[in-house]
Amino acid sequence: MTDRQSKRDSSNHYNFIAIGGGSGGIASANRAAMHGAKAAIIEAKALGGTCVNVGCVPKKAMWYGAQIAEAFKYAPDYGFEANKVDFSWSKLVDSREAYISRIHQSYERNLGNNNVDVIEGFARFVGKNAVEVNGQRYTADHIVIATGGYPIIPDIPGAEYGIDSDGFFELNEQPKRAAVIGAGYIAVEIAGVFHALGTETHLVVRKHKPLREFDDLLSDTLVDVMRESGPTLHTHSVPRSVEKLETGELVVHLENGDTIGPVDTLVWAIGRGPATKDLGLENTNVTKDEKGYIKTDKYQNTTAKGIYAIGDNTGRLALTPVAIQAGRRLCERLFNNKESEFLDYTNVPTVVFSHPPIGTVGMSEIQANETYGEDNIKVYTSSFTAMYSALTQHREPTKMKLVCAGPEERVVGIHGIGFGIDEILQGFAVALKMGATKADLDDTVAIHPTSAEEFVTMR
Ligand code: FAD
Ligand code: NDP
Repeated sequence: MTDRQSKRDSSNHYNFIAIGGGSGGIASANRAAMHGAKAAIIEAKALGGTCVNVGCVPKKAMWYGAQIAEAFKYAPDYGFEANKVDFSWSKLVDSREAYISRIHQSYERNLGNNNVDVIEGFARFVGKNAVEVNGQRYTADHIVIATGGYPIIPDIPGAEYGIDSDGFFELNEQPKRAAVIGAGYIAVEIAGVFHALGTETHLVVRKHKPLREFDDLLSDTLVDVMRESGPTLHTHSVPRSVEKLETGELVVHLENGDTIGPVDTLVWAIGRGPATKDLGLENTNVTKDEKGYIKTDKYQNTTAKGIYAIGDNTGRLALTPVAIQAGRRLCERLFNNKESEFLDYTNVPTVVFSHPPIGTVGMSEIQANETYGEDNIKVYTSSFTAMYSALTQHREPTKMKLVCAGPEERVVGIHGIGFGIDEILQGFAVALKMGATKADLDDTVAIHPTSAEEFVTMR
């Protein structure tokens, strides 16, 4: 921090402004303020952004609810008689929203403790270092654009009858029948929750399977589980139009002439776009790519001096911890003299909260083959039934894969699907990031009996 930067005053000039109070904006403004900057966040809707309000947090709450529903399946073999289980969707929603309100309070407290101003409203650039919110002008030495993204709705007749993931979190009643269109994280997660909680669910993908970008072991196993115990998977199914019947029910007409439905609810989950429209970027030197993502270098610099972008609007990995890390590192660079600080976007671990969950870090087998050549890759796999379900009539597969490269067998990919993988992966991601070899994993004594031990005992 320079003296000029650390000087606090009551004017509308800041050292740092974050446009967007989501994962990236909050993390960066807090970090800037911790280093003495006069910082503000401008938020148009609700603090916490996508993750807290319509993303990770409410999704995980629903997933936990689904986990409990699934536990009832196993209960009889564990000696529990649960003759009738009543489930209240609206009770789960109430508990979820109460939890989110507590997160809001804690964010407000932390921002207050760090003296970060929160300005409510939609920000628009009106100059190179100036934005306007509700007619009020604010300037800053450094402005980060952390505006996130929005769900894409296809341009087909009747698309408006469907909802998106934001709409999913507005459902106060459980639909009896639902169709979820899409093949990525959100489609798989929402379809899984609906199904586990008892909604008759159709997952509609346009290609041959969901999660095509993931290692085949993961997506193929998920497809096997879906075929065995739902949701109903429709492959090669491209929606042509959506019809609303007089009853209010919806029917999806596919390009191949088939129909899906009638259903009560249709959820579009076909990807997200960057929230970079109407930002007044024409008043700056910030440039976007053809899809509207803000162009940034590895330091999150845009093409305009003093303006940066982080998170979902940059077109890189759209994950909360990525937005947070990018924001914090940017502020370490700007306000703590760490000039070479930047986020390395390689080997970022990620989990899909599917049923069962999927965890992955590093290269898929196909990517490793392309990068190192097939002869330089050794792959270890393990397939078993996790003990949790093995005791019961509802056996569920667990599959794991280590992708190793070169003669030293450096671990370049770790993949798993199965009970508990969501919590297992984080530590193994550290090992991969540190350059662990297969021998290092083998050299680690197993924790028994767990699923995780398979990663250190594979042959
Ligand atoms: P956001 O968190 O989207 O925040 C952007 C904020 O900017 C918003 O609050 C918006 O209102 C505000 N804003 C936009 N324009 C303006 C403007 N002009 N002026 C003022 N304010 C503005 N990631 C995970 O890591 N794990 C998960 O389990 C996970 N689950 C998800 C589930 C769903 C259904 C969705 C949709 C996403 C999920 N994600 C998950 C992704 C994660 O939510 C995003 O990657 C993350 O929120 C991105 O943070 P961000 O700061 O870039 O943007
Ligand atoms: P994704 O990009 O993950 O997946 C969308 C998929 O939908 C595409 O890959 C494509 O798959 C399919 N699709 C695209 N267009 C169409 C179309 N017109 N009709 C039918 N299908 C189509 O997007 P999501 O919206 O699922 O999620 C956005 C991002 O949010 C994720 O990538 C992830 O980064 C983040 N997220 C993270 C979560 C987590 O960490 N657990 C959870 C939720 C979101 P195909 O080409 O195979 O058809």
